[in-house]
Amino acid sequence: MTDERNIIVENPFHTARLKPIRKGKRPPKLLAVVHQSGCTGCEVCIAGCPVDSIELVPGPNPANPQFQQTVEIDLARCIGCQNCSQDCPWETIMMYESNDAFSAWGNETLFSELYVEETKIDEIKDQYGLNAAEEAPTESSEDAS
Ligand code: SF4
Ligand code: SF4
Repeated sequence: MTDERNIIVENPFHTARLKPIRKGKRPPKLLAVVHQSGCTGCEVCIAGCPVDSIELVPGPNPANPQFQQTVEIDLARCIGCQNCSQDCPWETIMMYESNDAFSAWGNETLFSELYVEETKIDEIKDQYGLNAAEEAPTESSEDAS
């Protein structure tokens, strides 16, 4: 019998990885999680985040990414200030104890680009042409033939 559980990993290619990481060794007491089923993608929460850790998730149509867009929070960078949960007009961002935030994230996240199934990393590399770059012959390998 095969193990069909999906392992979720941080997407190393997301532009959020270029933003400054949270300071301090311990996570904050609380972390914010978007209940995406109630999110309208209105973007109100984004402006009030002092560490810019709320990211847009585009809708399914690449030609009109704002349609059915949602947001997600980078748990690795959230400092738990609660601004977003207070600002959201639809009350769809909840604060969780740090220890509970990842399971809440798993329950409430429908679409994520910050955290992806491990098996999708190759697909993302293809998207950016990174697999091709890895496979491309180097000058020294050409010389050796
Ligand atoms: S709790 Fe504060 S730091 Fe965390 S995502 Fe919301 S606004 Fe940003
Ligand atoms: S303010 Fe609320 S509804 Fe609007 S994008 Fe943020 S989480 Fe979604």
